[in-house]
Amino acid sequence: MWDVDGKRYLDGSSGAMVSNIGHSNPRVIDAMRRQMEKSTFGYRLHFETEPSERLAAKVASLSPEGMEKVFFVSGGSEAVESAIKLARQYAVTVGQGSRWKVISRFPSYHGSTLGALALTGYAPLSDPFAPMMQAMPKIPAPRAYLDGIAMDDPATGQHYAAMLEACILEEGPETVLAFIQEPIGGASTGALVPPAGYMQAVREICDRYGILLIHDEVMSGGGRTGKFMGGEHFGVAPDIIAISKGFGAGYAPLGAMIASDRLINPVLDAGGFLHGHTYAGNPLACAAGLAVLEEIETDDLMGNAARVGAVLKSRLQNLMQRYSFIGDVRGEGLLLAFELVSDRQTMQPLPKALNAYSELVELAYAEGLIIYSRRTRGGVDGDHFLVCPPMITSVDQVDEIIDMLTSALDKFSAKAGL
Ligand code: PLP
Repeated sequence: MWDVDGKRYLDGSSGAMVSNIGHSNPRVIDAMRRQMEKSTFGYRLHFETEPSERLAAKVASLSPEGMEKVFFVSGGSEAVESAIKLARQYAVTVGQGSRWKVISRFPSYHGSTLGALALTGYAPLSDPFAPMMQAMPKIPAPRAYLDGIAMDDPATGQHYAAMLEACILEEGPETVLAFIQEPIGGASTGALVPPAGYMQAVREICDRYGILLIHDEVMSGGGRTGKFMGGEHFGVAPDIIAISKGFGAGYAPLGAMIASDRLINPVLDAGGFLHGHTYAGNPLACAAGLAVLEEIETDDLMGNAARVGAVLKSRLQNLMQRYSFIGDVRGEGLLLAFELVSDRQTMQPLPKALNAYSELVELAYAEGLIIYSRRTRGGVDGDHFLVCPPMITSVDQVDEIIDMLTSALDKFSAKAGL
């Protein structure tokens, strides 16, 4: 990317983990141009359009078996809202109207609309709106590394999954509708990969209590982890999936809710899903989405994300030898993050006054590298940084990213006296 002064940047975070196939892809632009010449709008209650039907078929073929129904929206929050509403309408339809609570995790981010914010475990964003939304029960995300528990201990996954069961029992299973989680964490946990056994145990607990499992793949879906859905890494299929971000890859506002026939069919039989947005399934957005998926398949960009992601992750891990204040490097494929700490043993965060989360981003920016940061631990303390370049990134560009990041980290450590 070049700014108005001609300064060059490497987009090391794909914007907000969106531009998965890079910027200005000529084939996607051409597909959009061709669609624009045909039609740019068809009201979904009058017509389905060819691009939306083709994209739905493509998404269904890339989704876990049995998840064949695709409902288009224009972004991540809308996809999450659609998931909550479908779950609720399904429960009402099958005579389980007492179920309405959606358990989520802390920290988490599920969107900015009131319903999605009620699921979001990130107090600075949700607290100001508290009286206007129904806060939902939350359990801790499995960040064992912060709790002094080994991530690779076989008991760790069970330990965190047991918190879901405890929460369900406390709330009353007959009131719990669904559990929502990011299979591989996004900005809230900084690319958290769950401990072994966690995802399977969560699925089993949801099944035992008749609770729907929703995967928020808004950031982890679309291929950047090396698989189309982050959940695929664990061999666990949810009941509903929300995707967006890399799905439209920045070419068009696009998202989708994908659901199993088991859920959708009773709702359709009872008269249809009581939800929708005027612009949903917009043919131009769907043509862009289709061209993005074709690009990913033709150039094996998921394979590239897995291969180049492994190189980038090991280079980031090497930086831990040089900087004692990098406490953790984590993630999968090209959904990677590192966390800064003052003590690697205790994982205590850096002093808040250092403002690491904005300082390091600024220093990287000056070098010509864009990275994405968040105050972690629920927005209270701690700093992590997402390094998530597009899926077209080469190993040479990884070298360039690491060189710029090293310069930025050198300057940060000198300035912070670390
Ligand atoms: N869910 C997750 C995991 C996200 O990362 C985001 C956005 O960052 C959202 C939902 C909300 O998406 P949007 O900003 O497109 O509404």
